[in-house]
Amino acid sequence: MPEKQELSAPQKALLKLGLARDIDLALHLPLRYEDETRLVKLRDAREGDTVQIEATVTHSEVAFRPRRQLLVTVDDGSDTCVLRFFSFYPSQQKALAVGARVRVRGELKGGFLGWTLMHPSFRPAGGELATALTPVYPTVAGLPQAYLRKAVLGGLARADLAELIPPGVSGQIGLQPAWGLREALSFLHHPTPDVSIAALEDRSHPAWQRLKAEELLAQQLSQLQSKRERARLRAPALAAANGGLHEQLLAVLPFQLTGAQRRVGEEIAQNLGRPVPMHRLLQGDVGSGKTVVAALAAAIAIDAGWQCALMAPTEILAEQHFRKLIGWLEPLLAPRGQRVAWLTGSQKKKERAAMLALVESGEAALVVGTHAVIQEQVRFRKLALAVIDEQHRFGVAQRLALRGKMSEDGQEPHLLMMSATPIPRTLAMSYYADLDVSTLDELPPGRTPIVTKVISDHRRDEVIQRIRAQLAQGRQVYWVCPLIEESEALDLTNATQTHADLSAALQEGGAPVLVGLLHSRMPVAEKKAVMSLFTGGQMGVLVSTTVIEVGVDVPNASLMVIEHAERFGLSQLHQLRGRVGRGAAASACVLLYSTGDSPRLGETARARLKAMADTQDGFEIARRDLDIRGPGEFLGARQSGAPLLRFADLATDTDLLEWARALAPVMLDRYPDNARAHVARWLGGKSEYLKA
Ligand code: ADP
Ligand code: MG
Repeated sequence: MPEKQELSAPQKALLKLGLARDIDLALHLPLRYEDETRLVKLRDAREGDTVQIEATVTHSEVAFRPRRQLLVTVDDGSDTCVLRFFSFYPSQQKALAVGARVRVRGELKGGFLGWTLMHPSFRPAGGELATALTPVYPTVAGLPQAYLRKAVLGGLARADLAELIPPGVSGQIGLQPAWGLREALSFLHHPTPDVSIAALEDRSHPAWQRLKAEELLAQQLSQLQSKRERARLRAPALAAANGGLHEQLLAVLPFQLTGAQRRVGEEIAQNLGRPVPMHRLLQGDVGSGKTVVAALAAAIAIDAGWQCALMAPTEILAEQHFRKLIGWLEPLLAPRGQRVAWLTGSQKKKERAAMLALVESGEAALVVGTHAVIQEQVRFRKLALAVIDEQHRFGVAQRLALRGKMSEDGQEPHLLMMSATPIPRTLAMSYYADLDVSTLDELPPGRTPIVTKVISDHRRDEVIQRIRAQLAQGRQVYWVCPLIEESEALDLTNATQTHADLSAALQEGGAPVLVGLLHSRMPVAEKKAVMSLFTGGQMGVLVSTTVIEVGVDVPNASLMVIEHAERFGLSQLHQLRGRVGRGAAASACVLLYSTGDSPRLGETARARLKAMADTQDGFEIARRDLDIRGPGEFLGARQSGAPLLRFADLATDTDLLEWARALAPVMLDRYPDNARAHVARWLGGKSEYLKA
């Protein structure tokens, strides 16, 4: 039995990295390698190379300008080089005395005075050279490479690396990893010196391919397992009745559904009709009309005698839904003695108590709100359907809490998640593999395309002219101020300043214009007051920090100005731009950029803004964004609960992903023990991956 012992600092650091089991250590792979297998001559080296040389010290001095430093000149017979140390011990100074022969490693810098190595590592010359490349592992403070290397080697020697992927099956699927697991791991931990470091570091080497295939398979298996587990759960079967609420709602809508809305509505209705919980993601570009699809689903649930909850990430958004849904549903619910309830954090106690009572008695057929909807005190009488808008802004815990609101004898509610950020195909196949996905790929008719202009900040005056012109036509304008990540306070001064400048500029010589300001620090009541003036049309211009809530819907707004557009992510820009072009008026989006101190905008920034001007297709933009920023943006970082991939890269490893996706169901059916062991091997030690 292990004794109870204090863990040492490096042991604690290992745990912090999630390296608890032997297999976790074995799967902790190097970030890069150092080549200590050979010595080079300075004459053959190039700037930036990491070199290992053997040389003789020819000069040593402590200089004091510009600051105290030890300068040691060495000569390897082909050239000389200066070793520079800003901190050093007397013992090191002694070891580098004139005449000493030393082996030195470091990154070579060129310069006016010749080669330099800053703080190189060194030891006496001679001694054996390494026979394999030296791995450098991802680590954390308090965990030295040497300790970690030893721990990894130990783990690798002890871990059970039995092959779990049945070779026959894998071959049938058309891809037979060339390397075995044990072979691949030993190689990656100690690659022979003849291998190309480039192939190792860009992870194209067959040993890496094997590891990436393993990782993707584990992810696919675990998603498939949870999908199958869910299929065993029960949910109320909800069928749309003839002449029921669903039909009544369709009849009162002021528009015809688009083909896409009808198709997606049908997909959802089919799910709801089955006694198995729905787990569906409804994705549709901004303005594609997701809310009405949710309302129609709610109508089915309510008609069948159940309650429906709709949750949005912010109060303003929730309120917008609330108004729409009340407008559509309340007249139909009232004759049935039913209500729509409203729950948010900022609610007065008394109002909240009244709403809670409505929810608990079941009189509230529909409950709309923010996170407040899932708080403990909220007790539904019969919840059958939960709708989550902008699902990526909610965490897993919150989604689970919503599912937990279903009290009825072990049944689960149906879950409909909505997102305006279309998920690229590879992500849908991997992280979202346990979801069914519906897509609204058609915008309601009558929308005019948004013209997007990329304009330098120097031409601000022209932009203000444009705003005047829009206002003169009775239109409204959004002005979004930049996000300064480091400082919310700076954000605020910035927005406040812009607000003051714009107000002043727009009052000059024209009819008075109401310019409002909205930022994240404002009390909710104030935010609401500003929003209602803007929604009501009394306010001409709304200046805001990035809190213009995703989903805000003011069809009369026809111009969106985004300041410092170069600082935003593409998906974010797309979301913001989607605030205009919602009505019949011709709409425009101005991406104002600033180059700061440099004369021109950088290459990537230029390409990104150009992408925005080129296309209005959310899928295309999401794809380009994925290329530029990686999957974090789509997943809501760690919140997704889906294990992040450490090794595989969805942009380049599509073949492996397809293979894993095809193999997972076969393996789960025919080799369930191997499948379980494989998932445990890869995911067992950690609740989620730590990104290296
Ligand atoms: P999003 O998908 O971004 O949430 P909304 O549900 O807010 O979009 O819909 C955007 C606007 O389009 C709303 O004003 C909505 O009432 C309107 N709308 C939705 N469907 C249609 C349709 N089929 N025809 C016309 N307008 C529609
Ligand atoms: Mg919406």
